[in-house]
Amino acid sequence: MIWYWYVTRPDELMLDIDGGRGGSILGACRLRLEAAIRSGKLAVRDDMFLYRSGQPGHYHVIIRLKEPMSAWRRFIWEMQLRSDLYRGRCNLMRYVNSIESGESLTRGLYMVGAPALLISPKPWTGFYREPDVDCSCPSKHNFKVFSSCPAARALRGKEAANEGYFGELLKGRIVPKLKVKEGRMSTALFAYSEEAGKFDNGV
Ligand SMILES: [Zn+2]
Repeated sequence: MIWYWYVTRPDELMLDIDGGRGGSILGACRLRLEAAIRSGKLAVRDDMFLYRSGQPGHYHVIIRLKEPMSAWRRFIWEMQLRSDLYRGRCNLMRYVNSIESGESLTRGLYMVGAPALLISPKPWTGFYREPDVDCSCPSKHNFKVFSSCPAARALRGKEAANEGYFGELLKGRIVPKLKVKEGRMSTALFAYSEEAGKFDNGV
């Protein structure tokens, strides 16, 4: 299958809205957008774009701003408008990394390591511009697929293989009740490393 990649432009907010407990959280997104517009804090154009992103209740929402905005502010607004928070944190981290490494001086403005983008299983019908790149990866872009995807490498260079910024959660870990309630404590106990297991077992 073909995947279509859209890199966020300086006058776009790109939201990745996942399903909430009761289905979609599109309602919360719309309420927050209304508040932003009514208060005059966000100047948006008259038309915007909404696409289903694959799973039921999941949407890609693209809001066009009247004026370009800094990436910092755009990423904050995207999170405020209920875009997936994990994606938001990764976008910010990618952007900070590109600035601190000096890449922003040598690469294009919005293509600085393509800090923010959306990948769609279909081209967006009626969207005002074409996708930036496409790829034919065999499945949804999880970490493994992403690492070997030519589109990811073209846009993000070495960063493509280094998508994880925060560490993998250990599978099957059950967090024990915290026995120390307040005050100074061992980080190892709090963060449930091997020490916590020993503590629980009275070692
Ligand atoms: Zn791919």
